[in-house]
Amino acid sequence: MADKADVTKHKGVWVFAEQQDGKLAKIALEMLGKGRDLADKLGVDLTAVLLGAAVKPLADDLVAYGADKVIVAEHPELAEYRTELYTKIVCEQADKAKPEVLIIGASPIGRDLTPRVSFRLNTGCTADCTELDIDLDERLLVSTRPAFGGNVMATIICPEHRPQMSTVRPGVFAVPEKKAGRTGEITVVDVTIAPTDINVTVLESSKSDKHGTDIQDAVKIVSVGLGASDDVSFKAIQEIASLIGAEVGGTRPCVEKVLIDHGVQIGQTGKNVRPELYMACGISGAVQHTTGISNAKYVVAINKDPNAEIFKFANVGIAGDAKQILTAIVKEIKAVQQK
Ligand code: FAD
Repeated sequence: MADKADVTKHKGVWVFAEQQDGKLAKIALEMLGKGRDLADKLGVDLTAVLLGAAVKPLADDLVAYGADKVIVAEHPELAEYRTELYTKIVCEQADKAKPEVLIIGASPIGRDLTPRVSFRLNTGCTADCTELDIDLDERLLVSTRPAFGGNVMATIICPEHRPQMSTVRPGVFAVPEKKAGRTGEITVVDVTIAPTDINVTVLESSKSDKHGTDIQDAVKIVSVGLGASDDVSFKAIQEIASLIGAEVGGTRPCVEKVLIDHGVQIGQTGKNVRPELYMACGISGAVQHTTGISNAKYVVAINKDPNAEIFKFANVGIAGDAKQILTAIVKEIKAVQQK
């Protein structure tokens, strides 16, 4: 990597405030919550960087969710996310204000934007972090993420370059409380976009027609693993989910078996979830899966192997055959609901 940065010239924590269609993305709020925590530890301001067309009204919400300052960059050409333009504006602002930390949600937009921004700013980036903290002695962002196929958790620092950048996957951090009375400084910056800056034109964008709750927002999840992937057990899992108002999720091998969609795969290469109730049915508890459920409040695990790793994560463990246990649970719920 090229020349080291003068780290003393950089101050403040920045969050990229992703929005689409004039609506703040949930991941932007999750980043604000963590950003607030980091800024408080460092004793600096938290700044949200908001790009789009006519998005200024969202700045008040960003303040209410924890930002001290909001940088608003508005231009009709920023209405839809475009890699080159968003990279240019974020880098211009960061070059000017010199934040010491910049965190971005690892959404499809964040994953596209972040490497380009970090390259242009001549700094490093730790992707897909599961925890962020501050080493106050050195004023370093301490980023933790799974490495080597999830077999170790790596702690990564960026001592010589600024800003220290990390991305965090959706669902890892909670959305902070919205405080209506909070006040902050909102700055609308000048945006200059030359015709030569525009090399890509968006002809059309369309939304996926998927229905139902995103598994990341689910309050209850009944999850299928290979040990409960037979027809009887899976039907019982679907029935339990429908009876208790839960979503069905599962492990990667169940996605590979085409039993469930990749959109509901939970874990390192799937989604991170934070439900109130997580029922793990026939799931071994491999680290690549459990990394996605570390924020689940109450875990019920069913596995025929009493020594299965998943029981270490469970509030309640049931050792036995999934088929028998799941069909008994269906009967029991129906009996209770009919009373
Ligand atoms: P298994 O490991 O085969 O476990 C099945 C379990 O069911 C066993 O514990 C067994 O005792 C139990 N069982 C069997 N029969 C019964 C029965 N009749 N009744 C009750 N219990 C029974 N996995 C993910 O889930 N999500 C990811 O995002 C993910 N990402 C990965 C990324 C990488 C880079 C790699 C290398 C792997 C990844 N994996 C991921 C795969 C992961 O390592 C495990 O292989 C996977 O989670 C195991 O899925 P499983 O628990 O369904 O199956």
